Amino acid sequence: MPESPSVTIVNVGYRSTNFWVISAGTSRLLVDLGWPGTMGTMRANLERMDIELSEIRGGFATHYHPDHAGLAEELKRAGMPLIVLESQVDFFPLLKQWTKPQDRFTDITPDRNFTLAFADSRAWLAGIGFTGEILPTPGHSDDSVSLLLDDGNVFTGDLTAPALCGDDAAGRQALASWQSLREHGAKRVFPGHGPQRPLAR
Ligand SMILES: [Zn+2]
Repeated sequence: MPESPSVTIVNVGYRSTNFWVISAGTSRLLVDLGWPGTMGTMRANLERMDIELSEIRGGFATHYHPDHAGLAEELKRAGMPLIVLESQVDFFPLLKQWTKPQDRFTDITPDRNFTLAFADSRAWLAGIGFTGEILPTPGHSDDSVSLLLDDGNVFTGDLTAPALCGDDAAGRQALASWQSLREHGAKRVFPGHGPQRPLAR
């Protein structure tokens, strides 16, 4: 199935972290969910990019660390469907332990979370206008996932860059995740930090 020509990608990130809004017309998907206590900044950045929060049909964290999932609960309360991948269900309750009181983190409740199996991700994405899938890509953390669109664009969160993978269990796991992404057609990386780049062979 050809990728819709209207798919666009914008970064609404701040504090050296990328938060990607992927749009098919006004159907939008948010990849990574802001720093704790920064809902005002997130709202301002969305507004600057002409993105209505109500147009975001779903949002998920590539992994449950504060810089990627800090606003999960607040975005959900503002109306964004929070998608939790099956491998992340045991991890979102642990995010609180990485935060300090001064972070003003709002704890993530299980209420109204939408748990998504990897095997169902393609159908769910198709339902909101995107062709692709969400894959488990552990290495940086056990709950790390990546969104791979059929055009080869892949959103990898903090999956350790291949050149930086050490010869330890985590490094080997991350390399296996990159290999899986390549085998599924990944060509261009949109990471959680830093600029987009081609995926080296
Ligand atoms: Zn990060």
